Amino acid sequence: MTKFVFVTGGVMSSLGKGLTASSLGRLLKSRGLRVTMCKLDPYINVDPGTMNPFEHGEVFVTEDGGETDLDLGHYERFIDEYLHKDSNATTGQIYSSVIAKERRGDYLGKTVQVIPHITDEIKERIRRLGRENIDVVIVEVGGTVGDIEIVPFLEAIRQFRRDIGRDNVCYLHLTLVPHSLPSGEQKTKPTQHSVTELRGRGIQPDVIVCRSHHPISANLKRKISLLCDVPTDAVVSAIDAENIYEIPLVLHAEGLDEIVCRILRLDNSDRLMDLSGWEALVERVRATSEVVRIGVIGKYVNLPDAYLSVVEALKHAGFHHGAKVEIDWVQAEEVTGMLALTRLDSLDGIVIPGGFGERGLEGKIAAAGYAREHAIPCLGLCLGLHMMVVEFARSVVGLQGANSRELAPTTPHPVIDLMDDQVDVEEKGATMRLGACLAQLEPGSQVAAIYGSEIVSERHRHRYEVNPRYRDRLIAAGLRCSGTSPDDRLVEFIELPGHPFWIGTQAHPEFKSRPDRPHPLFRALVGAALNRAHERTPRLYDLDNVPS
Ligand code: GLN
Repeated sequence: MTKFVFVTGGVMSSLGKGLTASSLGRLLKSRGLRVTMCKLDPYINVDPGTMNPFEHGEVFVTEDGGETDLDLGHYERFIDEYLHKDSNATTGQIYSSVIAKERRGDYLGKTVQVIPHITDEIKERIRRLGRENIDVVIVEVGGTVGDIEIVPFLEAIRQFRRDIGRDNVCYLHLTLVPHSLPSGEQKTKPTQHSVTELRGRGIQPDVIVCRSHHPISANLKRKISLLCDVPTDAVVSAIDAENIYEIPLVLHAEGLDEIVCRILRLDNSDRLMDLSGWEALVERVRATSEVVRIGVIGKYVNLPDAYLSVVEALKHAGFHHGAKVEIDWVQAEEVTGMLALTRLDSLDGIVIPGGFGERGLEGKIAAAGYAREHAIPCLGLCLGLHMMVVEFARSVVGLQGANSRELAPTTPHPVIDLMDDQVDVEEKGATMRLGACLAQLEPGSQVAAIYGSEIVSERHRHRYEVNPRYRDRLIAAGLRCSGTSPDDRLVEFIELPGHPFWIGTQAHPEFKSRPDRPHPLFRALVGAALNRAHERTPRLYDLDNVPS
């Protein structure tokens, strides 16, 4: 029988519900349980694919091409399992499917209502995740209790326990225990209010996880236990961790997995508990000594969540090399101009991330060119590859005004363009290439060596491709198209022979990086960046020691 854990949050948003849920997932998996996760998002968008990254952070792409909430990225990185489209449901999706059923006449003339039709649809989606080979499904409910749009979700998860039995469901509620300013005293009132709100929807939490800057005292736990009616050991203190990958250990020390398993009657799973791999990872993170500086040339540099998976992939690569990756956020629009180029020179490596129809692309092109000419390790992701190809076409092939058709529809040299078969005949726009695609790597190429394989699969999310009509000219001028789709139609990877690392990929490898298994491209980029940092050190040392 599959068991379900529902994670809700109160007091305020951004408390780290996704990370708490992910950490619990890691702990349960470390007990030998088979875990999957899901996020219910109460917003009305059908998926986050069309949402502004400024507001919502990155869109996480699953193997099957789902455009999902960025929390799914945390889930995958922590539990190391592939999730899918169905692992993220929104109010928009749920209503769309209920309305489609209504139009088909599936409800046999009944009045279609939030209860039971919307709630049944929510429950059905949750239930579907509990497959035969899954022991525990962790379901995070987005938003905060008290939000208007969360109500049908709370009602659905309340009913869920009645439907499948008390011992098969655990309600975990995340709150904040703040300090009062004058006395520094920890305050439980927000937690009490939040639990009251949840109870108002008929849900009595089984476990309360309290975020706070400092550990919560035994006294305070007793108080919360008394007022919120949960056992004292089910009040879990989640103090701020230096690194997100430490959170599972923090929560384990507080007994979170133990109590959740007790509620779900999975207690004997602790026999198999093995956290040694994760502990070793955290040890490695703590032991990082040197610093490597990677510039990310982007548009949303004030909201790093817009590039969350890229940042995490860089960190993972750093863990591998024993180096702390320091990210220098470079606003793409500011790259052109002398000062910015000096700034680029001070970097050990550069990432040009993905994006859609952006301003400031001349800056990304300039950064790609500067990295090419000055042997700075540079990794281009999707739009990043496009900008590298444009730069190479202009500067090396000599195609003046070369550009991507996405950004300059009238360019004389659309080196990046839509493929003919992608354009919808009814001109409804182009279809997006989404999800996992295979690529064939050229034997002997840098990317084949980095991957250690000649067939690789990566996730995609884009419309534009390297224009096949320009491929020969790019190759003749020295660009290596080192990876293509298996039918050789599409360019998947580019590189520059002789350059330490000037590699672009049409895909988004960042989605598949794991803290204990960095993605090979990021690992190699950070490796090359460290080489550059080391080569530079003696020069700086000499400068410091100029005899007076
Ligand atoms: N906007 C570009 C395209 O659609 C690149 C997309 C991306 O970087 N994910 O092809």
